Amino acid sequence: MKQSVKLIVGNWKMHGLSADLGEAATLRQALEEESASCRVVLCPPATLLDRMRTVVEGGAVELGGQDCHEKPAGAFTGSTSAAMLADAGASLVILGHSERRAAFGENDAAVAAKVEAAIAAGLEPIVCVGETLAQREAGDAVAVVSAQVENSLADSLAERPFAVAYEPVWAIGTGLTPTLEQIAEVHAALRAALVRRLGQAAARIPILYGGSVKPENAAEILAASEVGGALVGGASLKAEDFLKIIRAA
Ligand code: PEP
Repeated sequence: MKQSVKLIVGNWKMHGLSADLGEAATLRQALEEESASCRVVLCPPATLLDRMRTVVEGGAVELGGQDCHEKPAGAFTGSTSAAMLADAGASLVILGHSERRAAFGENDAAVAAKVEAAIAAGLEPIVCVGETLAQREAGDAVAVVSAQVENSLADSLAERPFAVAYEPVWAIGTGLTPTLEQIAEVHAALRAALVRRLGQAAARIPILYGGSVKPENAAEILAASEVGGALVGGASLKAEDFLKIIRAA
């Protein structure tokens, strides 16, 4: 399915201090002058959300968190709840990023619990899935991501806006990307899995591609079948690069 409005999401990961808020200001200003034909989201570290809100408020840039705890509140030192993200200015949240799955041991059930928490707080989840290089080389990419998406979603998503991001683990931050055929194959499988899991309502859910998206490759990736947008890491840190990707959408 060809999505009409692409969703372009910048994941700043653990990068960003007060001095970097100017990048958000530049982005906001450029989108006012150019009126982007896509939705644009920045996901800074939680510490910057509230201040970034004051920078982008009233403009076209939306804000998201990078993760949330599955519980609404409690004795979970160091964690951030979905309601806290919403309170600080987020309207979306990235969940199940492969860096969290790998470094923090998050499995599909944990991601699904976070999806429930995000929905309860009124956030739009962006649920990430992706195979490792070993899984791709074994011919298991489609089976792995299909199982991940079916098990990482929550039933209540059927009536809610959300997005899925296909991010091959081996393509994140490496400069490597799958071929357009490989992207199209996985996105078609994810679409089928989404509809199997949540019914026809999921036929229009955007499926983003993520993994070394850059100004140089954005246009061809975003034009691939079933690609409803991009989740961008490194190339979202500088407004100038991120804007080139936004213009390609
Ligand atoms: C990401 O952080 O989700 C990502 C895709 O990173 P990069 O664009 O740097 O590969």
